[in-house]
Amino acid sequence: MSAHDPVVVAGAGQAGLQVAISLREDGYEGPITLVGDETGLPYQRPPLSKAYMLGDMQAESLELRAAPFFADHRVELLSGVRVTAIDRLARRVALSDGGSLEYGHLVLAVGVRNRVLACPGADLDGVFTLRTLGDAHALRERIGTIRRAVVIGAGFIGLEFAAVAAKLGIAVTVLETAPRVMMRAISAPMSAFFADKHAESGVTIRFGDSLARIVGDGRVEAVETNSGVRIEADLVLAGIGVIPNTELAAAAGLPVENGVLTDALLRTADEHVSAIGDCAAYPNPFLEGRYVRLESVQNAVDQAKCVAARLTGKPHPYAAVPWFWSDQGPLKLQIAGLALPDDESVLRGDPASGAFSVFRFRDGRLTAVESVNKPGDHMSARRILAAPPTVTPADAADESFNLRAIAKALG
Ligand SMILES: Cc1cc2nc3c(=O)[nH]c(=O)nc-3n(C[C@H](O)[C@H](O)[C@H](O)COP(=O)(O)OP(=O)(O)OC[C@H]3O[C@@H](n4cnc5c(N)ncnc54)[C@H](O)[C@@H]3O)c2cc1C
Repeated sequence: MSAHDPVVVAGAGQAGLQVAISLREDGYEGPITLVGDETGLPYQRPPLSKAYMLGDMQAESLELRAAPFFADHRVELLSGVRVTAIDRLARRVALSDGGSLEYGHLVLAVGVRNRVLACPGADLDGVFTLRTLGDAHALRERIGTIRRAVVIGAGFIGLEFAAVAAKLGIAVTVLETAPRVMMRAISAPMSAFFADKHAESGVTIRFGDSLARIVGDGRVEAVETNSGVRIEADLVLAGIGVIPNTELAAAAGLPVENGVLTDALLRTADEHVSAIGDCAAYPNPFLEGRYVRLESVQNAVDQAKCVAARLTGKPHPYAAVPWFWSDQGPLKLQIAGLALPDDESVLRGDPASGAFSVFRFRDGRLTAVESVNKPGDHMSARRILAAPPTVTPADAADESFNLRAIAKALG
């Protein structure tokens, strides 16, 4: 690609916008067009299930860049427009408004969409999912008027919402088929801590139970579970996972699995097309090159920076340490690294204190650190995980072992 070839970015979310920001920061002078199917300016999603849902933050504060940024940086934002097809031979994308755009490089940053409930009653008024500002706005309006909510799925978004709803005085029940909360993402001790804390704040979590149907006359009245329990409810929030938006890439003949597949430089099988953020699956150096699709702000931002660096002549494999956070009421969960379910868990600190970490190890090597209300451990872990292995399970368990000093020495 020459320095003046047009870059087209499909998807104007966290990753898509960051490509445009980083390309300009890296000195790229050519045209940049950001095509996003949502209306309005690109915005951040994390507060949707936290401060925004509580009413502590307004929509304008969610915007990632104010309107003048786009003109000032010569980034053309086509909002409310969808990329509908990719012609890889002609290097052109078709748009939902009937237009088309030529590209020297195309970045797919099209994210994911929520799985929706398929049970009887799933279309009743009062059944919600949460991904977009529109979803959050509708939910926020409704929670001001209800007394009882049922959340389907004890994942991050479901539990963040449950914490907000409980704080607003709503009786919340969470249905979770697995035996523990956030099971795919965190260790058993951390799950147990979070389950206890949610219970203390009045949230009922029913493990090993699942949704059979939602009942009501036009509007949600109750939920019936597969164990035969009926739970009265005015609102149901489905937090049952996501589906990566791979259809556009697949229709253009690009390999997809659980995400649009890329190489270590985040290029798809076509060197003129990259894929980043929630929609992309890449060979992860922290999991021995296994393909991983991550859903986090860090991953979206760092992958965008990696692609911008390549397009401006500084290619490097994507190898950033993954990290993530989730705020659930007064608890801040932070995760650095990537663990597999069977990785060993070593406690550092006392869960009874409300602030501790769980260090995860595989074959004696540190793979991840989960911290709650321990930002110092999290920041140290991010540095330590970026360097060759230094911390052993015995070090991790010993609170007098100076984690910060090790992290500092690593630079
Ligand atoms: C409620 C909620 C809370 C979250 N909390 C956290 C958190 O606490 N911490 C954290 O790290 N992460 C959190 N996340 C995840 C984080 O927001 C995502 O990982 C991040 O937004 C991914 O960025 P992205 O650009 O890949 O996708 P997105 O930000 O989802 O952007 C993709 C955009 O592409 C658009 N699009 C799709 N198809 C097309 C098309 N064909 N043409 C044009 N546009 C298209 C989509 O509508 C969307 O606007 C949260 C997500 C949600 C929904």
